Amino acid sequence: MIQYRAPLADIKFLINDVFDFQNHYQAIPGGEEATPEMVDAILGEAARFSEEVLSPLYQSGDEGCVFNDGDVTTPKGFREAYGQYVEGGWQGMSAPVEYGGQGLPLSLGVIKSEMIGTANWVWGMYPGLSLGAMNTIYMHGSEEQKQTYLVPLTEGRWTGTMCLTEPQCGTDLGQVKTKAVPNGDGSYAITGTKIFISSGEHDLTEQIVHIVLARLPDAPPGTKGISLFIVPKFNVNQDGSLGDRNPVVCGSIEEKMGIHGSSTCVMNFDGAKGFLIGPENKGLMCMFTFMNTARIGTSIQGVGAAELSFQGALPYARERRSMRSLSGTKQPEQIADALIVHPDVRRMLLTQKAIAEGGRAMLYYAAQLADQMMAAHSRDDQAEYDRMDDKLGFLTPVLKAFLTELGYEAANHGVQVYGGHGFIKEWGMEQIIRDTQIAKLYEGTTGVQALDLLGRKVLLGKLKSFNEFHALVKGFIKQHENRAEMKPMIKQLKRYLLRWRLGTLRIAYMARKDRDMVGAASVDYLMFSGYVMMAYFWARMADSAYSALKQQQGDAAFYQTKIHTAEFYFDRLLPRAKGHAKMMVKPAKTLMQIADEHFSF
Ligand SMILES: Cc1cc2nc3c(=O)[nH]c(=O)nc-3n(C[C@H](O)[C@H](O)[C@H](O)COP(=O)(O)OP(=O)(O)OC[C@H]3O[C@@H](n4cnc5c(N)ncnc54)[C@H](O)[C@@H]3O)c2cc1C
Repeated sequence: MIQYRAPLADIKFLINDVFDFQNHYQAIPGGEEATPEMVDAILGEAARFSEEVLSPLYQSGDEGCVFNDGDVTTPKGFREAYGQYVEGGWQGMSAPVEYGGQGLPLSLGVIKSEMIGTANWVWGMYPGLSLGAMNTIYMHGSEEQKQTYLVPLTEGRWTGTMCLTEPQCGTDLGQVKTKAVPNGDGSYAITGTKIFISSGEHDLTEQIVHIVLARLPDAPPGTKGISLFIVPKFNVNQDGSLGDRNPVVCGSIEEKMGIHGSSTCVMNFDGAKGFLIGPENKGLMCMFTFMNTARIGTSIQGVGAAELSFQGALPYARERRSMRSLSGTKQPEQIADALIVHPDVRRMLLTQKAIAEGGRAMLYYAAQLADQMMAAHSRDDQAEYDRMDDKLGFLTPVLKAFLTELGYEAANHGVQVYGGHGFIKEWGMEQIIRDTQIAKLYEGTTGVQALDLLGRKVLLGKLKSFNEFHALVKGFIKQHENRAEMKPMIKQLKRYLLRWRLGTLRIAYMARKDRDMVGAASVDYLMFSGYVMMAYFWARMADSAYSALKQQQGDAAFYQTKIHTAEFYFDRLLPRAKGHAKMMVKPAKTLMQIADEHFSF
């Protein structure tokens, strides 16, 4: 069984040495509450809850949910753990004070979610989806809706869902058919079937609040005719108590490859009473609030998979013995050397470690941007909000797709390190692979994220956010290029940055002549971007580690290992980007020249 240990040393290194969260918190509302003592206490308590309460439920939760005539029972222990979570006030940690939250910075919530999601991603999906519902109601709901729904959601007494997908469409939401007919009293009758709804039904809370995409009777076709509704499982009385049952019922739950403890529901809406959120026909725009939160949340799954599979593989590589080291016996008192002496086993372990730590750095940087975005919102500073939204919007598809692809790869390495035993359920390593595959699919597949990045954020955005990120990296290069110890990394970073720009311009040029070029280039482009972004964050971590060593502060072995992991990343993972760079500028021809009907077998 894998016992999760929160990587507090690495988390603290990022928030103190690399990103200076204390300075960052000075400039954002709620930040004054996040004193070093408060942050330490939160990290410690979130680590304890994740390690002691959630981690032991990860493998047992694989037994899955049970469906019985519309009701869903979650795996043993999930309900009790949720009770403790609510009691601890965790759901409202970063929610606005006026709706019952503690108003702490969003970034602290991300760190908490990372620990929870790494210890037990499947359990974490229940409160995780609720956070997205809360954000959507906060950003787009009326004051009455906020009072009615946001407060109990913030307390964790209720949970929320996101109901987009229908049998005929998941990516192409323009095809949504669910109907919303005005009841004449300000409410709407919602009718239709939604599928794959995570947490659509469960036994953790008394109430479930569905956020649903549906069409008004006179709505234009496609994405311009979709509106957003709140549909509670139980109607809510004037005094906030629960009323009669709304006709929104779970028809069944899916049998899946993984995340068995998360209920994935078919939800049938049969004239269920719903309430419009935001303007008519602007539902998809409002839903983006939910989707962006959920996408950043999903990138946590990639980081978590890398961290947990590393934590599972490392002790095994230290204990299992096989043959002798190629460079001479390392443990002569033993019958054979431990796996960890072998370069190829080290390659796998270091890949997991570099992905987990590099991904964590990318995530925390994005979390700081999210703090700044929310700060602008609370100041009513729309221009700054939009600027931050653009910056975060540029990073989001990379975080979501690149980190989940790499997290999945790391989970595979975890199984490989165990050899044949990795394939055996008892060890828990194969479960991480099964549970992580979904991260590459939901909240927009890797292919769809790649189109969003290259098509919408880079090309349609006229390279604005792309240029801003480049300026950031260039600034770093300029600052450090004359430092002897940083030179090798800076030199490579410079080269890849140039290649990123030239590749982007070349794709833009080619796409003018062939529209398929964007789709053909997109996934390689996203992966290339991901590797270069991660290189920048590894260089920043190396820089902070060198400074700490120079000042002789803290744990020298930790900082030295950080530098060595950065060197590994630049030597053995970053060069993969070259392959993507070559492929992303190839014409679409070889993908498109075979006629559909000739794809035969
Ligand atoms: C376990 C699980 C939980 C889920 N939870 C939720 C939830 O809580 N709420 C919710 O609403 N949905 C949920 N989903 C649905 C999920 O978000 C969708 O399955 C996903 O977005 C993909 O949509 P699809 O299945 O319709 O695939 P399709 O849209 O049919 O895509 C099929 C393939 O075609 C590719 N593709 C599609 N269009 C394009 C294009 N234009 N260009 C290039 N490639 C394209 C895709 O990348 C993919 O590889 C969940 C799904 C699962 C399996």
